[in-house]
Amino acid sequence: MSFTDKVVIVTGASSGIGAATAVVFAKEGANLVIVGRNEDRLNKVAEQCASSGNQPLIVKADMTNDDDVKKIVTDTIEKFGKIDVLVNNAGMSVSGSILNGDLLKAYDETLAVNLRAVVHLTALATPHLVETKGNIINISSIAGKMVTTSLSLPYSISKAAIDHFTRGAALELAPSGVRVNSVSPGPVKTDFFDNAGTVISWEIIASRIPLKRCSEPEEVGDIILYLASDKAKGITGSDFVCDNGGLLKIG
Ligand code: NDP
Repeated sequence: MSFTDKVVIVTGASSGIGAATAVVFAKEGANLVIVGRNEDRLNKVAEQCASSGNQPLIVKADMTNDDDVKKIVTDTIEKFGKIDVLVNNAGMSVSGSILNGDLLKAYDETLAVNLRAVVHLTALATPHLVETKGNIINISSIAGKMVTTSLSLPYSISKAAIDHFTRGAALELAPSGVRVNSVSPGPVKTDFFDNAGTVISWEIIASRIPLKRCSEPEEVGDIILYLASDKAKGITGSDFVCDNGGLLKIG
């Protein structure tokens, strides 16, 4: 699955799934564009990528800032001249509920990153993806397919919307030769829950999942790599669930 000469943008590449995905693509020879806010972490991921492949382009960007999102595409085109793969991975969860009175704030903050920025970046990258017959992978979650109390409602709403955005974009872009798919992990061992202010135990979560384990970020990266590759040339509008059986039964 060589990605030599392919240009791959990964948002949220400073941490967790995005960082692991960048390294997975780097090992296959891709030219990476790694995006996030935390420069120190981006530099560390860039070092890891460079040690197994090419030196990535770092774009420091806040996905809630429209100019930053535009910069991701302009910097990529300036440096590499094309885009082959867009991995819309950056995501977060802000706690908020109807009864607490903080639902709208959580909704606005969460949707700005998890949905609006994905829609915006996809729209900006699409003309370049049409030129290369490239593809898009959106990182969704099983939280968009089930009602969960462990994460806030806006997070689930954002991921349910990403699933439908994936299908709609896949249908619209299919005649242009651009594939669009999503990957929906269950719990993955990253900083996500810490960043969301949710106290969890990986052991307890694992004990409630059919396969009795939580995924490592690299496992998700491998699936993204496959979907982005020519081996998946017949796959579009699909959602690949990798949740250790969590959707079958958690608890
Ligand atoms: P992490 O918290 O480890 O990483 C989140 C990434 O998103 C970071 O690189 C962060 O970069 C970036 N990010 C968040 N907000 C912004 C913003 N405003 N602007 C730019 N970048 C931002 O979590 P994961 O790796 O676990 O999450 C990656 C994706 O996987 C998310 O979409 C998440 O919803 C999804 N997911 C995660 C699961 C899990 O159990 N971990 C399960 C299912 C789905 P920085 O801080 O540098 O800005």
